[in-house]
Amino acid sequence: MRSWPSSLLGKTSGVTGPSRLWLVPRSRSLFITDNSQSIETDATRPSKRASPLKWLPDGLVQSSRKLGGHTTTAQVHPGLMTKFLAETFLTSPNTSLVLGRATSLSLTDDRAKSVAVEPLWGGEKMDLPADVVVLAAGPWTGKLAVDLLGKQIGGRLGVTGHRAHSIVLKTKDELSAHCLFTNMAMADGSQGEPELYARPDGTTYV
Ligand SMILES: Cc1cc2nc3c(=O)[nH]c(=O)nc-3n(C[C@H](O)[C@H](O)[C@H](O)COP(=O)(O)OP(=O)(O)OC[C@H]3O[C@@H](n4cnc5c(N)ncnc54)[C@H](O)[C@@H]3O)c2cc1C
Repeated sequence: MRSWPSSLLGKTSGVTGPSRLWLVPRSRSLFITDNSQSIETDATRPSKRASPLKWLPDGLVQSSRKLGGHTTTAQVHPGLMTKFLAETFLTSPNTSLVLGRATSLSLTDDRAKSVAVEPLWGGEKMDLPADVVVLAAGPWTGKLAVDLLGKQIGGRLGVTGHRAHSIVLKTKDELSAHCLFTNMAMADGSQGEPELYARPDGTTYV
């Protein structure tokens, strides 16, 4: 989780900030505060500037700008955060968690009756009784609405997603807690703007 770069702020509504995450105990290492920096590199011409970070080689970074520091930006580990929320939820009485894919919805008198779910780890499809159903499937919400409510009603939601790719690198050295928003010119003239999130567990999310 981070403060969005100022270039995006004008276009983004509902920006979430790290302040909300203070609800989660720090001891669980679900997030770290970090320094966020925008950097520009150009592999076709070596830079004369000293590297702004110990783990980036000299001669690489053409320009850099600080976007936020430990009091204003932080990043969260999505897997650990989701696990923490699920475990916390399960400590409440009369709760259970089913991991699976919702495939259809049964109605009685136009009200929800049950949701058919294919369990994530295989096994028989199950019908979960429900009186209220919340569609919260992120970029898949539009597709889920069509699956559950049919094209005529669900299709009117119109939520779609954009495809993006990400990888997690295991680095040889542990990197400092930095988020880098880059603008990179490659040796072959191509351009890229990958974002790098160095985590305290020795991995870096790109
Ligand atoms: C590369 C990337 C970087 C981002 N960086 C930031 C950031 O720095 N700061 C920030 O605030 N936000 C960031 N976001 C946005 C943030 O991740 C989303 O806004 C947030 O995850 C949305 O949460 P959600 O619960 O609505 O949906 P999601 O987190 O997308 O969760 C939806 C869930 O629904 C499940 N699902 C789909 N179909 C079904 C089905 N049929 N049955 C059951 N389950 C189903 C999916 O598997 C998924 O687990 C980023 C997003 C991306 C892709």
